[in-house]
Amino acid sequence: MAASARKIEAKRSDESCCGGNGAPAGQPINVDLARIERAVREILTAVGEDPDREGLLETPARVARMYAEMFSGLAQDPRIHTQKFFTEEYDEVVLVRDISFCSMCEHHLLPFIGTAHVAYIPEGKVIGLSKIARVVEVISRRPQVQERMTEDIANLLVDELGAKGVAVVIEASHSCMTIRGVKKPGSSMVTSAMKGVFRSNLSSRAEVMQLIYGNRR
Ligand SMILES: [Zn+2]
Repeated sequence: MAASARKIEAKRSDESCCGGNGAPAGQPINVDLARIERAVREILTAVGEDPDREGLLETPARVARMYAEMFSGLAQDPRIHTQKFFTEEYDEVVLVRDISFCSMCEHHLLPFIGTAHVAYIPEGKVIGLSKIARVVEVISRRPQVQERMTEDIANLLVDELGAKGVAVVIEASHSCMTIRGVKKPGSSMVTSAMKGVFRSNLSSRAEVMQLIYGNRR
């Protein structure tokens, strides 16, 4: 399999993953914006600020909209992106590399930003590459820990595609570790979830890791 495995790379997107491209944020209908605004005013007051000074007047509303965007994945089912598939006999590795994302650490409500690499070996069913990026996007827009995010993406693809193998590797920088606490800028966290043949077969696992990390400059 190693020599013939085809590698499909996602284009590195130029847009910032934190909503720089003006794409529809998919705001969940259940977010109580007014309640967030009140809470943000409380926080400002609690740290000794005056929430009524000019520079802060619109901050609570702005923060409320930001949370609605950052947590929009709570109101979405990522499975809507895996419903359209194609029947293909292709049974080598399909890899989408460098899917940028921005999620929110559920322990500190601080962003963690990174890239996801998602590979699978089809069992008759393939889906569009952009759909894999959509799945990552929806799952990332939730209060999250990176370990669960990695598992959730992998399990969803196993369930929906019945793939022979699924491998998900996520690398991210956690602002709760870089800007506060132990303060280690430049550190990153890597998590992986290996399912099916990528779990049971060492050479398949080595192959997918080589596809993800090989021939990097
Ligand atoms: Zn954290």
